[in-house]
Amino acid sequence: MSDAPNSSPAPAAYAGPRRVLSGIQASGALHLGNYLGALKRFTQLQDTGAPCLLFVADLHAITVWQDPALLTAQTREIAAAYLASGLDPARSIIFPQSAVRAHADLAWIFNCVARLGWLDRMTQFKEKSGKHKERSSVGLYTYPVLQAADILLYKATEVPTGEDQKQHLELTRDIAAKFNNDFNAPGFFPLPEPLTQGPAPRVMSLRDGAAKMSKSDPSDQSRINLTDDADTILAKVRKAKTDPEPLPETIEALDARPEAKNLVTIYAALADLSREQVLAEFGGQGFGAFKPKLADLAVASMAPVTAEMRRLMADPTEIDRVLKDGAERATAIADPVLDDVKQIVGFWRG
Ligand code: ATP
Ligand code: MG
Repeated sequence: MSDAPNSSPAPAAYAGPRRVLSGIQASGALHLGNYLGALKRFTQLQDTGAPCLLFVADLHAITVWQDPALLTAQTREIAAAYLASGLDPARSIIFPQSAVRAHADLAWIFNCVARLGWLDRMTQFKEKSGKHKERSSVGLYTYPVLQAADILLYKATEVPTGEDQKQHLELTRDIAAKFNNDFNAPGFFPLPEPLTQGPAPRVMSLRDGAAKMSKSDPSDQSRINLTDDADTILAKVRKAKTDPEPLPETIEALDARPEAKNLVTIYAALADLSREQVLAEFGGQGFGAFKPKLADLAVASMAPVTAEMRRLMADPTEIDRVLKDGAERATAIADPVLDDVKQIVGFWRG
């Protein structure tokens, strides 16, 4: 094994502009966790005036098997969700990851910067590969390296995501710092800030208070999909795992009750209330009273987004136009950064 010769840490002040970037995998139906942990926050950030890049992570999606016929539809569905949740394609850049070739180019270079030991620590790989590590794709293992490329290709300074991505964002910072240091290019890449705080940074499964709500969970009962109708949402919330006790009066009493805590957190995030306020209203009441209120709130909050998604999906012309335009604008930012990286690394450029 040989490491880079430059071992003295270089100062890493980055002087470029603020830029927000995030992505959602085209790996299935969007759910309430994606809505609260990601989509809602992207829109809030856009509305602060920050330049935002939002991509549909199709290169990431194929780290596990995706039916090619569905992948295109899933890509359009994520784009529809971005638009329906309030992202404005005139202000924000919305694009499919695979349409900007530089993502894969930079990921290869970063594969040669990141260390095996760093990747060995990634808990998402352990969770997703489960007991069948040797049958997982190599892509699933190097997923966080591609994620670092997605972010640093645009020199993004802020990355809003759910809490599950925190470890990957730390790895992105490590890759940026090592690249800047190894190639004696102080401040070339920023060390992006993870924005994982929010009212619901980790929405849990409806069936298991210890597991994250996920697109890839085989049980559809574990999540509320953005495209579920009102009856389905009510049925799923009614069946959500809980304990027999009524809701408590205090937040502290929720700590030992993960399922109850999850439902209260979801209610608070949807209603833009604090959890204390939710408990002030529902403390002492049983789930029989609370669950239908939660279901109604989820339906009312998501219905406008769902309706707009359906409208957009009915004729994908507008979605395709947004994705094509976004891919061109993203490429215009990414290509010069990749050119600089190639020069820094010493690749022949003619
Ligand atoms: P998959 O199971 O295929 O990984 P996912 O449900 O985890 O899908 P991603 O596309 O990986 O969704 O993540 C998109 C965004 O949604 C990321 O910012 C991620 O942190 C966020 N997110 C995913 N699940 C949750 C959750 N349960 N609560 C809050 N945020 C979430
Ligand atoms: Mg995920």
